[in-house]
Amino acid sequence: MAFETVIGLEVHAQLKTRTKIFCSCSTEFGKSPNANTCPVCTGMPGVLPVLNRQAVTFAIKAALATNCKIARESRFDRKNYFYPDLPKGYQISQYAAPIAEHGHLDIETSAGQKTIGITRIHMEEDAGKLIHDPHRAKSMVDLNRTGVPLIEIVSEPDLRSAEEAGAYLRKLHAILKYIDVCDGNMEQGSFRCDANISLRPVGQEEFGTRTELKNLNSFKNVEKAIRFEVERQTYVLEAGDKVIQETRLWDPDRNKTASMRGKEEAHDYRYFPDPDLVPLIVEDDWIQSVAKEMPELPDEKKARFVKAYKLSEYDAEVLTANIDMANFFEETVRPLTNIKQAANWTMTTLMGMLNAKGLDISNSPVSATAFSELLALIEKGSINANAAKTVFEEMTETGKAAAAIVKEKGLEQVSDQSELEGLVEEVIRENPEEAEAYRNGKTKLFSFFMGQIMKKTRGKADPKVVGPLIKSKL
Ligand code: ADP
Ligand code: MG
Ligand code: ZN
Repeated sequence: MAFETVIGLEVHAQLKTRTKIFCSCSTEFGKSPNANTCPVCTGMPGVLPVLNRQAVTFAIKAALATNCKIARESRFDRKNYFYPDLPKGYQISQYAAPIAEHGHLDIETSAGQKTIGITRIHMEEDAGKLIHDPHRAKSMVDLNRTGVPLIEIVSEPDLRSAEEAGAYLRKLHAILKYIDVCDGNMEQGSFRCDANISLRPVGQEEFGTRTELKNLNSFKNVEKAIRFEVERQTYVLEAGDKVIQETRLWDPDRNKTASMRGKEEAHDYRYFPDPDLVPLIVEDDWIQSVAKEMPELPDEKKARFVKAYKLSEYDAEVLTANIDMANFFEETVRPLTNIKQAANWTMTTLMGMLNAKGLDISNSPVSATAFSELLALIEKGSINANAAKTVFEEMTETGKAAAAIVKEKGLEQVSDQSELEGLVEEVIRENPEEAEAYRNGKTKLFSFFMGQIMKKTRGKADPKVVGPLIKSKL
């Protein structure tokens, strides 16, 4: 029997506030354990939480950027459970009345564009972290993360494959970075995802039983875990068995999922409204002031790149997928005229170098200005594309400016008409048989002559000058 995959994603994104959601402790990452704590976030008796206004502003911004309807009144509930990283014994989270609902975003798939529904966005506080010491029978708790503001973005079960789930996640990640409400760092846990997966026979309306995958800390792992889980459920169903509703953990070292807890062990959190917090009222003027500050979003930037720079949809998609890359590109092309050339160099040479070095555009060893200077040298005809590759490599290693490297290595392109004319005549003289054959119609030998000239000039001859010379002299 053929099955259809159904996926819904829950994303937790840490908001980029300076302080925590209900106290004034710093949210800075990497401080010594428990340095960022106070009586409020460590849950001492009698303390009162006070909502961070900036966190709400960021949540509103995320909601607007994902086309959600913002609730004029929302509420914070207590989600009760015991765990050593949760000193209060409950997490404050919006449950019954979230700040935003009914949104959507568009993703690109191989079959074209697709709109994915967003069920809700709610605000909550993060829990702390347990550190298990492998050398001692001890675990330690770090409460620096306790009370850091999160939004949870829950998608509709609209995704139909691992690819679509990956595209949705990347798009959501890009949007949150564009609007600057989340740093998007997946390794530090600022952007985390749980994936819900079920299968149903093709043509059946009703959804099948789902499992929930946790511990997915990279885009690649999300896609791999979903593929594994789809195969596993297919196997279960084809054997005539039933998928059990449960939470499963992805094991990135073994490339498989394993059961963590079943439905029987599912928590009953006994949610109830937190009596220490008043309802959150968001007036229209608050929403409007956030909307006024909304920057260009990925889809808008992509459309502008296609129009303003005459780029293909594909190129524009690649160049705007990441806000830092888009900014780098725009700074690069500002003084240039050959935009297509700049786009090609950015997508192949620059991105290739970053990939090879495992670097992000934000810590590129070549700045946009330096990169632009190199491309300007090609535009002006000072160096040819071959020499430019050498110069670029040198730039990434030494950080020197393109012009300085060209001078140092004597890579200036030879464009002088009379100098090249002499060389072309010389090459023809030295290769009489090839010249004869060319004249008799074997024009494929053109590249042979070009190659000889490049050899004599150590690759520095300007092909745009040499080409016509070869043709006219032969
Ligand atoms: P919970 O709070 O138990 O995680 P929710 O109803 O909030 O449950 O759903 C969480 C996610 O699971 C949502 O993204 C939703 O789209 C997805 N989901 C719900 N049912 C299914 C299903 N049968 N198959 C795949 N995903 C599902
Ligand atoms: Mg869930
Ligand atoms: Zn605190």
